[in-house]
Amino acid sequence: MSCEPRAPRAAAAVPLSEPVIGGNEWAYVKECLDTGWVSSAGAFVTRLEQWAVEHLACTAAVAVTSGTAALHVALLLAGVRPGDAVVVPSLTFIAPANAVSYVGARPLFVDAEADHLQLDPAALRVFFARDCRRGGGSVRHRDTGRPVSAVIAVHVLGHPSDLDAVRAVADDVGLPVIEDATESLGSLYRGRPVGALAGLGCLSFNGNKIATAGGGGLVLCQDEAAAARARYLTTQAKDDPLEYVHREVGFNYRLTNLQAALGLAQVEQLETFVAARRAVHARYEQGLAAVAGVEPIAEAPWAFANQWLSAVRVDPVAFGHDSRWLLARLRQAGVETRPLWQPLHRSPAFGGASTERDWVADELNRQVLCLPSSASLSVADQTRVIALIAGSASA
Ligand SMILES: *Cc1c(COP(=O)(O)O)cnc(C)c1O
Repeated sequence: MSCEPRAPRAAAAVPLSEPVIGGNEWAYVKECLDTGWVSSAGAFVTRLEQWAVEHLACTAAVAVTSGTAALHVALLLAGVRPGDAVVVPSLTFIAPANAVSYVGARPLFVDAEADHLQLDPAALRVFFARDCRRGGGSVRHRDTGRPVSAVIAVHVLGHPSDLDAVRAVADDVGLPVIEDATESLGSLYRGRPVGALAGLGCLSFNGNKIATAGGGGLVLCQDEAAAARARYLTTQAKDDPLEYVHREVGFNYRLTNLQAALGLAQVEQLETFVAARRAVHARYEQGLAAVAGVEPIAEAPWAFANQWLSAVRVDPVAFGHDSRWLLARLRQAGVETRPLWQPLHRSPAFGGASTERDWVADELNRQVLCLPSSASLSVADQTRVIALIAGSASA
């Protein structure tokens, strides 16, 4: 099956990240259309879930409409209740904090570490020691009085968090860890695929992720009972499908077969996508080695990162310009780059700034830029990006 021609993009444009349609996408989607199995039941939904069980370190997977929905369900499976608090890294896309709100709980933000941009286990330990009190088998946040009931570890930009260290801190206070692996499909932590190493995790197949279903996600579990509960909650909590009896409030979160068809064709190419993005990252490391003040974020000893987005730290003193200057300069040349997200402890959506102390997340937000990282990025385009950066240095 051949691909339809795509709309040509502007000659100079180098996008941050774009999907690559290069495998069975057309054939699988056509099969849905030919058979009429387009909606939320069908072989591709099951095959996508089965793929996850075969390739990721989980025993069950449940396909859902988005990574955010997967997080919502994972929080419910972890037993988070209205009125609780959940730890979320300050430096992440906002979705996990939003999902915490959906269950009626409140996110509490903990800082990132500077080397790999991940949740800082040391800051997490300080948070429990300084900002929480323990007693009667629970952990309570001092300021809000809320019971803390889970920790979400986000593998930011596709680089694994130091899960063993995060889990050691969470274990000490008896809390479950939920992995937000929405950016990190294909990444390994100490040689094992991230996603459900801590017991419960989430993937996303949004259009900007390493593999896409158009939209979609997976809840990854380590036991069938949790998966069965996820299936129940995501299909409107139907107890009697004939008489429409529901014991609980459920959600319409099941992925469609059409999306799963696209998603399966994409994950079949995961190894190629990861290899291509890792090659992009390696070329940035090599090409920028001689540029003072622009340093690619390095891989940790525990990590095999999918390098979903390659990021650099821009030191304004050494480089001669700050990150936003470089962003504007590259944009002028048709090269798309992005800063990291506004740190969530500053987000107006969650009550705004806390300025009593310096956050590593704030400095990372000022300094880090994500560079074009698509699996389809040509060596010629990437060489141009590197030359633009090197040519901007005020050496
Ligand atoms: C993309 C993303 C999500 C949400 O995934 P969607 O499929 O877009 O809902 C959640 N968390 C993080 C860190 C993400 O980057």
